Amino acid sequence: MAETAAIEIRNLDKFYGSFQALRGLNLEVRKGEIFGFLGPNGAGKTTTIRCLLDLIRPSAGSLRVLGLDPQAQPVAVRARTGYLPGDLRLDENLTVERALRLLNRLRGKPASWEDIRRLADRLGLEMRTPIKNLSKGNKQKIGLIQALMHRPDLLILDEPTSGLDPLIQQQVLQLIREAREAGATVFFSSHNLPEVQEIADRVGIIRRGELVEVAETGTLIHRSLHRLRVRFKQPVDPTVFERVPGVSLLDADGSTGPVVLQVEGEVDPLIKALAAYPVAHLETERPTLEEIFLAYYA
Ligand code: ATP
Repeated sequence: MAETAAIEIRNLDKFYGSFQALRGLNLEVRKGEIFGFLGPNGAGKTTTIRCLLDLIRPSAGSLRVLGLDPQAQPVAVRARTGYLPGDLRLDENLTVERALRLLNRLRGKPASWEDIRRLADRLGLEMRTPIKNLSKGNKQKIGLIQALMHRPDLLILDEPTSGLDPLIQQQVLQLIREAREAGATVFFSSHNLPEVQEIADRVGIIRRGELVEVAETGTLIHRSLHRLRVRFKQPVDPTVFERVPGVSLLDADGSTGPVVLQVEGEVDPLIKALAAYPVAHLETERPTLEEIFLAYYA
């Protein structure tokens, strides 16, 4: 295994009965990076995460987490990992403080109560509230605190900001950045594409149990899609450009207004097609990660 890998997944298959949720998944998360794991509902993100923590067993393939085999050494993996499950369940009768003290006691190396309190303050979580009175977002905060509090080498977070208000979301992103600055690796799944774009160094896109793309976040944004806004000196039928491979017409504002074209893949054939017409003005726009993601699933 490469020394730089915090997570290594090789040819991972997972069947639930006859349904195949993961199909030969390969993925490597480098030490010290923030890796965003994207995919639509049911793509296999949670299944992958559960295999990493030995909460479910893969049907085939191999896994390494922090250089360890999670099936052979699940306790060692969990000791060095902070995990936020997607479906956190807590004893409703406890207060926040009791729940956090209990969760802390379960760890081999407990966190300092001061650190826990500081995390709760930053997330705006009141310690004395009974869990049964908490909103979904406030319960999520307990999950985040227990994942972060012991300063793990690896954070595995299943949708860390789901259900949180925008200010707290920003605070969570900041906590993730700080964990990485302190040397941790972060692997997180998300549906919130602007936030992935904001903090992930690399992004992996999973579709129907297979990884369809892995790239540096910036590269993905630059490489996959181009958008061109073109104004011509004379009226041009914009539909001619739709015949160019990978090009779709997003907008054509009358006969002389700008034409907006989107290209998937090579931009060169479109530039050559445009060159046949008198171009007055041309601008390129960078798509958002959200638009790239939608293009993958269109
Ligand atoms: P979401 O974004 O909705 O959380 P996901 O990418 O995390 O989705 P998974 O929860 O990994 O997706 O599910 C992958 C597929 O496996 C889905 O089709 C799901 O219905 C199926 N699946 C998950 N768990 C089970 C199970 N215990 N038994 C049967 N099928 C399951």
